[in-house]
Amino acid sequence: MPTLPPALDKLAALLARLPGIGERSATRLAFHILSEPRGYATELSRALDGLGTSVGFCDDCHMVAEGADCKVCGDPSRDSTLLCVVEGIPDLLAIERTGTFRGRYHVLHGVLAPLKGVGPTQLRLGNLTSRLERDGVEEVIVATSTGVEGEATALYLARLLANTGMRLTRIATGIPHGGDLEYIDATTLGRALDGRRPLDA
Ligand SMILES: [Zn+2]
Repeated sequence: MPTLPPALDKLAALLARLPGIGERSATRLAFHILSEPRGYATELSRALDGLGTSVGFCDDCHMVAEGADCKVCGDPSRDSTLLCVVEGIPDLLAIERTGTFRGRYHVLHGVLAPLKGVGPTQLRLGNLTSRLERDGVEEVIVATSTGVEGEATALYLARLLANTGMRLTRIATGIPHGGDLEYIDATTLGRALDGRRPLDA
């Protein structure tokens, strides 16, 4: 759009790369930012800058973190014997919203999807087994989604951990087939966690 000043054009182009934001929405957002008091754009740019400089991933669970430990791993009141494996950070946040889970997490950052070329090496699995031993984990709750890929990932984990002597459980039904944890209400998700059942390899 040559009619716009380059700074606005550039901002709109960057916003258009966000998921669910088309070119028109991006331009609208850019104009919205422009119309806000000037402090807003400055604060926004500082927040974005902070993403690049101070936010990384937790060495242990792969949740976002400032520093080596995330807020969950760094909280001594969390139960380290209970570990919940989730696909992504939005799922972790959904479980946190239930307020019922006091253990720790392991974020895979994906699910097994052979057709899309996603195998075990693409998931953040490398430190999982060593973590179980180090932290004295007694139960692993597999909370991947209930679709085909989530179930395949659960089965893979069941096989991977079969000989560790670990209690392995799967979140209960009540979550619709194919359901992403992120979109399930906190009560249903809390019940699914409470009603978890043994997961066999
Ligand atoms: Zn962590």
